[in-house]
Order: sequence, then structure tokens, then C-alpha cells
Amino acid sequence: MAQKYQINLVNENTTARLAQCVAQFIKPPFIIYLSGDLGAAKTTFSRYFIQARGHSGPVKSPTFTIVEPYELGDECIFHFDCYRIQDPEELEYLGIRDYITSESICLIEWPERAANVLPPCDIHAMFRVITSTERSVIWHAVSAQGQIVLQQLKNQWEDK
Ligand code: ADP
Ligand code: MG
Repeated sequence: MAQKYQINLVNENTTARLAQCVAQFIKPPFIIYLSGDLGAAKTTFSRYFIQARGHSGPVKSPTFTIVEPYELGDECIFHFDCYRIQDPEELEYLGIRDYITSESICLIEWPERAANVLPPCDIHAMFRVITSTERSVIWHAVSAQGQIVLQQLKNQWEDK
């Protein structure tokens, strides 16, 4: 079973393809942490992921609202950005526990900023800036479900 897998995102189109690929293997409940510096492609990945799951409108960065919800049929995607969180308890006030249900997928940018109050993730994706047009991402499977998804991703990605 795959535990760790690195992918080079040579341009934004590759990031879009990756998000579409990951999106087809994930079923709720599922939590992805997205780490990496500003501009590392966390929001860009999330945007393509949310659209790949059926959302047709825009996806804005939740930097100021901390969380943006997307209702897609029976499932709900919650896109978090914890960058501006000063005190992890802010997430408690936002009702973080209500977001984590059997029908939800959570994408959480800057999880480090709220480490103590966040539920554990299934997969932790670490993005890195390589050049102005290139990024890389390392996927770490954390849960058993995360390992299954990572293995499916790896198989499909290497197959192309
Ligand atoms: P973050 O959420 O990690 O702070 P964003 O996704 O908001 O970063 O911004 C990433 C920026 O980098 C976007 O402007 C995007 O167009 C650009 N970019 C350049 N190369 C890539 C790539 N290979 N994959 C994704 N985004 C890229
Ligand atoms: Mg962002």
C-alpha cells in the first residue's frame, strides 16, 4: 500500500488533471490537509477538485471567511483556510465539529495553524513552489482509507 507519493506539477494544467484524478477516488467522509507556502497551489488544486465533483460556479479562496461550503447533491465539500486563524478556538466557534459528517469532504489549507482543534486527516498533501510555473506535491496517506485512495491515484497516474 502506498504511504507517500510525489508528483511534479509541471504547469497548472497538470494540477487540474491531478485534482480531477483525485476527485474520482474520494468518497465522503474524507479529510485532506493542504500544506505549503503562499502561492504553492493549495487553492488552485481545491478549485479544480471542487469543480471536478460537480460544482459549476466559481470557487473563491476562503482566506477571509475561513470556510466556504459547497453543497453537491447528497454530499457537501467544506473548503477551509486556517491561515488567518489567531486562536484555534475560532474554529470551535465556527462549529467545526458540525462540518465533519459522514457526507462531507473537507479540504483544509494551512492545517498547522489549527492543529489542536482539527480532526485528523486521511491524506496530507504538501505543495512546494519549484518555478513560476512549476509546483510539486507529496501525498502522505495517514488513514487506511487515505492509503487506498493514494494507491488508486498512483496506479492511475502512472498508467497514463
Ligand atoms: P495557495 O493557495 O497555495 O496560496 P494559490 O493556488 O492561490 O496558492 O496560487 C497558486 C498560483 O500559482 C496561482 O496563481 C496559479 O495560477 C499559479 N501557478 C503557477 N504554476 C502552477 C502550477 N503548476 N500548478 C498550480 N498553480 C500554478
Ligand atoms: Mg490558498
